[in-house]
Amino acid sequence: MNRYRNLALAFTIVIVNPITQEAENSSAFPFFVTPDRWPGTYLEELFKIRNQQVVRWPIALLTRNFYIWIAPILTTGDSVLDVAHVRAVKESFSEWNKVRIPLLFVFTSDSSKADVKLQWVSNFEEKTIGKVLWKHNPKNGHMLKASIQIAIRRSDQTLLDTITMKAISLHEIGHMTGLEHTRQDRTIMQTPIKIAHLDPRDQVSAQILYSMPFSIARK
Ligand SMILES: [Zn+2]
Repeated sequence: MNRYRNLALAFTIVIVNPITQEAENSSAFPFFVTPDRWPGTYLEELFKIRNQQVVRWPIALLTRNFYIWIAPILTTGDSVLDVAHVRAVKESFSEWNKVRIPLLFVFTSDSSKADVKLQWVSNFEEKTIGKVLWKHNPKNGHMLKASIQIAIRRSDQTLLDTITMKAISLHEIGHMTGLEHTRQDRTIMQTPIKIAHLDPRDQVSAQILYSMPFSIARK
């Protein structure tokens, strides 16, 4: 019997049903009974990667807008970042906003005001097209800062299409909120990414992560 099992029963969770978008009370959801078994999510894998710690942005930040600064459109040699690519990235933030986790993404043109900056990269050397650099406090799980890098081209120099841009930005935003890779098929946090929208498993995983107190999964 692990220690946090009892704790999990002791707090109230308000979850937004991703289908109806209505708040549900926790008794309607079967997945709070044991934190080591979360049907419809990939939190079990997440907590394994995180050594059973809740890692996410702290509440103090969540009571206000969460500012995103997107670097200006970039021209590097022959590679021009199209307006449609920027739109795809903005759509990804809007799609995450609909999940109704307590992070409200708002764009800012003032980089000094930004909680998270998104930079364009011509291409990465390795076979990746997006990266999130983030830092958290290992003592309490609070995420402290993060930045996103998205490549315009793959490592073989082919230009990313806008659907791939949407998929990769949804995925990197997922990392930035605190999610990790999962083996669950056709979720946005699976690698390689097969979809360009959020699956209900992505939504519910993020919602529960943001409903859990930081102390809950600590060893
Ligand atoms: Zn990833």
